[in-house]
Amino acid sequence: MDTAREIHLLPEFIANQIAAGEVVQRPESVVKELVENAIDAEATTISVVVRKAGKTLIHVVDDGKGISKDDLPLAIKRHATSKIQTAEDLHRILTLGFRGEALASIASVSQLEIRSRRRGNSTGWRLLSTPTAEPKIEPYQCDEGTQVIVKNLFYNVPARRKFLKSDLAEFRLIADTMRKFALGYPQLRFVFYDEDSLVFDLSPTTLLERIAQLFGEEYAHSMIPVEWEEHQIRITGYIGQPDFAKKSRSEQFLFLNHRPILSRQIQHAVYSAYEHLLEEARYPVFVLFLHLDPTQVDVNVHPQKQEVKFEDERTVYAVVRTAVTEALASVDLTPRIGIDATTPFEKLQIQSPQKPEETLLVNRLTGEVISSKSQSYTKLPQELRPTSPPSSATPPSSPPATALIATAAPAKAPASTAPSRRFLQLHNKYIVVETSEGFALIDQHAAHERILYERAMRAMNREFQYAQKLLFPIKIELSASDIALLQELQSLLENLGFQFAIVDNTTVELLSVPQDVPGNREQQALVDMLHDYKERAALEYPQQREQLAASFACKAAIKSGDRLSEEEMQQLITDLYQCHSPYVCPHGRPTVFEFPLKELDLRFSRTPVQSKGAD
Ligand code: ADP
Ligand code: MG
Repeated sequence: MDTAREIHLLPEFIANQIAAGEVVQRPESVVKELVENAIDAEATTISVVVRKAGKTLIHVVDDGKGISKDDLPLAIKRHATSKIQTAEDLHRILTLGFRGEALASIASVSQLEIRSRRRGNSTGWRLLSTPTAEPKIEPYQCDEGTQVIVKNLFYNVPARRKFLKSDLAEFRLIADTMRKFALGYPQLRFVFYDEDSLVFDLSPTTLLERIAQLFGEEYAHSMIPVEWEEHQIRITGYIGQPDFAKKSRSEQFLFLNHRPILSRQIQHAVYSAYEHLLEEARYPVFVLFLHLDPTQVDVNVHPQKQEVKFEDERTVYAVVRTAVTEALASVDLTPRIGIDATTPFEKLQIQSPQKPEETLLVNRLTGEVISSKSQSYTKLPQELRPTSPPSSATPPSSPPATALIATAAPAKAPASTAPSRRFLQLHNKYIVVETSEGFALIDQHAAHERILYERAMRAMNREFQYAQKLLFPIKIELSASDIALLQELQSLLENLGFQFAIVDNTTVELLSVPQDVPGNREQQALVDMLHDYKERAALEYPQQREQLAASFACKAAIKSGDRLSEEEMQQLITDLYQCHSPYVCPHGRPTVFEFPLKELDLRFSRTPVQSKGAD
C-alpha cells in the first residue's frame, strides 16, 4: 500500500503571490487597486505619490472612513472584504472592489504599511507587513482616513521585476490610470505627484470642467454632450467632434456605473454611430458613462475587474449607438468658412389658421420643400424619405414635396415659387451653387459617393429594391479567387442590386445591377467594386456591408472630370441634402463647404447694412 503524500497546502504568502500574478502585474495595478479602495471608502480627496514609476514607492492617502484596529490584519488576508457578504451580493456589485485579494496580493510582493484612523476616532493605528512575517500592529498618530505605502514592489520576485518596462513606460501607465479615475469621479479631488513634482491637483467639479482640467478648455468645449435613456440603460457624458478624432483609441474613456472598463463592443458601437464622419483610421474621443442595474452585468470576469459581461449585450450595443447618433444629430457639423452654424434647411412658419404650429422645412440650396414638420431630415418619418432611389436616367419625383406644396401656399417660399438656383461647374470637378445665405462649393465626386453610399446601405438593409434587371445577362470572366469572394458576399451583393449566377469557377453571369449604374458600365462596376473591396477590406471599415457600400459608391459615382448638365447638378445637390450625413464622403473627406454671405461681407469689409443696400 502506497501511503506517501506528495501534496501539501502552500504557505499563505506563496498562495498569495500566485494570486498576485493576476491582480498585481505592475506598479500601475497597485495604484489602481489602492485608488479603488479609497473611492470605496468614500474619500473626497485622494493623493497619490510614486517614486521610480512606483517601483520603489507608491503612497496613496485618502480621507475616507478608515480601517479599525481589529480590521487591519484582516484587510491583508486573502478573500477578506467588507464589501460583499453573500453569494447574491456578487450579482449586484456597486463597489469597485469585492474580491478581497488586492491588499493580500500586494502584501505578498512588497513591504507594505497601512496607516489608518477611523472617522471620529481620536487615535490611529498602523500595520507593518513583509511577505513572510506576521504583520505588526501599533498605535500611530495620523489624520482621519487611510494611507497605504507600498515599498520595493516585487523585491522578492525577481522574475516579475525584470518583466517591468522602463520607468517612463511604467509611469505613463500609472498616469493613464490616474486620468481615468479623475474622469470617472469628477466630484472627487485627485492629487498626483511624480517624485517631488506635482502632476496634477484637480479640484472637485463637473465632468465637463474635469475634461477641461485634463485636456484643455478648447478641447472640452468642443465636445458634444450625450444624454440618453432607453431599456433602463442610461448613457451620459461627452463625445468629441469628428474633427477631433485621434489616430489611436487612447482618448476613449468608458465607465460602467463609474467603474473604468474596457469593451471592444462598446467602442465599436460608438465608432459605428459616427458612421463615416471620420477620416480613415481615426477614432472618436469620448468620455461615456453607462448606468445600468448592477444585476444586469457581471464584473467578476477577470481579477482586474476591467472586463465586464452584459446580460443583454445587443441591447447595450444598440442603446450606446443610438445615444451617440442622437448626440451627433443634435449638432451641425457642416464644414464652414463662416461663423455661426446653420443647417441646409430653412424653417418657415406656416401662417395657417388650421395648423398654427406647423413649420415648413425648405432646402436652402435647392428650394425644395422637405418636410412640413420642424424636424431634421434624419428624424423624418419613413414616408417622407426618398423611397426609391433614382437611376441617373429617371430623376426622382420627391413624393412628399408635391403634396406639401398644396398646403404650403401661405408660406414665404414654397418650392414652386422658390427662385431657381444658379449652378456653375468648375473644372468639371466642383459645383458652385448660390444659396439664400451665400454660396456653397461641392465636390461632385465626393457628393455622389455619399449619395450612392447611403443608397447602397439602405438597399442592403432591404429598405428598397435597388436592383434593375438587365435585358441581356452579361457573362464575365473572373479569377477563381474573385468568384470565391463573390460567393462569400452573394447575399449582400444581391440586396445591393448585383444579382448573378455562377456558371463555373471562372465565369459568372450578371443578371441585374443597382439602378445607379449607367448603361455599358455594368460589368466594370462589378469588377471595379470587387477590386476596391479587396484592397480596402478590413482596413477601413470593420463591417463587410459598409465596406461594400463604400466600394460600390466609389466606383459607380460621377468622376471628377465628368461634365454635368444643369439638371444633373440640381439633382445631385437635392440628393445630397437628403442624405443622413451629407457633409462627408464615405472616406471621410468633406463634400461641401458653405460660404455665408455674412462671412463674405466681413472679408470684404462691408457692414451688413451696406451689403443689403443696392450698391
Ligand atoms: P476589496 O477591495 O476587494 O474588498 P482589498 O484587498 O482591496 O479587497 O481590501 C480589503 C478590505 O480592506 C476592503 O474590503 C476594505 O474593508 C479595507 N480597505 C482597504 N483599503 C481601504 C481604505 N483605503 N479605506 C478603508 N478601508 C479599506
Ligand atoms: Mg480593493
